Amino acid sequence: MNQVSEIHDDVQLNVKDEQQMQDAQDPLRDLRELFVLPDGVIYLDGNSLGALPKATADIVAKVVSVQWGQGLIKSWNDAGWIEMPHRVGDKIASLIGARQGEIICADSTSVNLFKVLHAALMLAKQSPHDAQKRIVLSERENFPTDLYIAQSLCKQHGFELKLVDAHQLQAELANGDRIAVLMLTHVHYRSGAVHDMLLLTKAAHAVGALTVWDLAHSAGALPVDLHASNVDFAVGCGYKYLNGGPGAPAFAWAHPRHANVMEQPLNGWMGHAAPFVFTPEYVPAEGSHRLLCGTPPIISMAALECGVDTLLAAKPLGGIHALRKKSLALSNLFIELVDKTCAGFGLSLLSPREDLKRGSQVSYTFESIDGYAVMQALIARGVIGDFRAGYKSVDGVMASPDILRFGFAPLYIRFVDVHRAVNHLREVLEGKEWKQSRFKNRSIVT
Ligand SMILES: *Cc1c(COP(=O)(O)O)cnc(C)c1O
Repeated sequence: MNQVSEIHDDVQLNVKDEQQMQDAQDPLRDLRELFVLPDGVIYLDGNSLGALPKATADIVAKVVSVQWGQGLIKSWNDAGWIEMPHRVGDKIASLIGARQGEIICADSTSVNLFKVLHAALMLAKQSPHDAQKRIVLSERENFPTDLYIAQSLCKQHGFELKLVDAHQLQAELANGDRIAVLMLTHVHYRSGAVHDMLLLTKAAHAVGALTVWDLAHSAGALPVDLHASNVDFAVGCGYKYLNGGPGAPAFAWAHPRHANVMEQPLNGWMGHAAPFVFTPEYVPAEGSHRLLCGTPPIISMAALECGVDTLLAAKPLGGIHALRKKSLALSNLFIELVDKTCAGFGLSLLSPREDLKRGSQVSYTFESIDGYAVMQALIARGVIGDFRAGYKSVDGVMASPDILRFGFAPLYIRFVDVHRAVNHLREVLEGKEWKQSRFKNRSIVT
């Protein structure tokens, strides 16, 4: 080993000591023990599929073998199955500034978005002065499913989906007489950029538009206050920071000023005022309970409840505000170490550097087309992040670049993990490990 690399190693060691100290002083450090995390894996993809809480397997097994196996149909009452969409919704409420009884847990994010966006469009149509309001405004790079749902609803109901870049939203709203609904995702799935929910909701209301916010990358990662921001409708995802497991049920919320007048398009018996009276006519349930449609998936919801309970275990330690503080410290450390040790290897930071503007993930573009291979090489070393392909616009121009994405779920990521992950990243890039052909085969799910 030559002198230069010895010095380099010393510096690395000191940095690592510092991180071990940060972990020792982290008030949330013990929460990691609540999760199953495979040996040798640094999991930086909790923003896409949250890790498994240790309690989940036993709870799901109990729901299956005791509640279902022994209790059979009696468990709808005896085990409280029928209340689960509300009970789990109430647990999520405290994380996002909603009140008890306002959130239902059901279906997928896509389906819930369909319900609340439809409700918003119908409210806009019913408003007597608003015949000219026929635009749904969103961000060009919003998550595709959100855009597809909006396209479908706009086509069905005579609205136009207008897509602009994030920085153009405020100007659009300022001249937004024709805007019926502003539909946005709070934290961007690619860049991790956070929208100012309060400011944009205010701007939308100023021109008489309603707002629909998707909290997929916010709920459980950073504080949201739906009431303080005066939002109209919101949806969110159960399998990301809420750790509900693959395909976990999602949630939906409507402001109480709309909940009793809104019409959701999927009228099902679970959203009926009296499901077990079995009348042929649909009468909507009180408030947001009408957002339910069919029978809740109890086994999946039991896993989600366990995920949410695990997140709520942070409450005595400062709750979502403490989680946010740690997540920012983790992502700042990642950015700082990549700046210091990976300079010149073709990575460019896509996420905002400013804390207020960044969610709980950090994304980079890579100079060559092989960003996917870089991520695969990292995964082979046990550092799991993910890759999101860019896309070309209709005229063939690259409208959005490929990205490498690293999520920092503050419940179970340590400062020392960040240090190790960046070391692996540096080694993959420095040694051009990603050039090996085995890293270039793309699986279906990236
Ligand atoms: C993850 C995510 C979804 C997921 O929708 P599903 O219906 O669960 O597939 C939707 N929207 C956004 C913004 C997301 O990040």
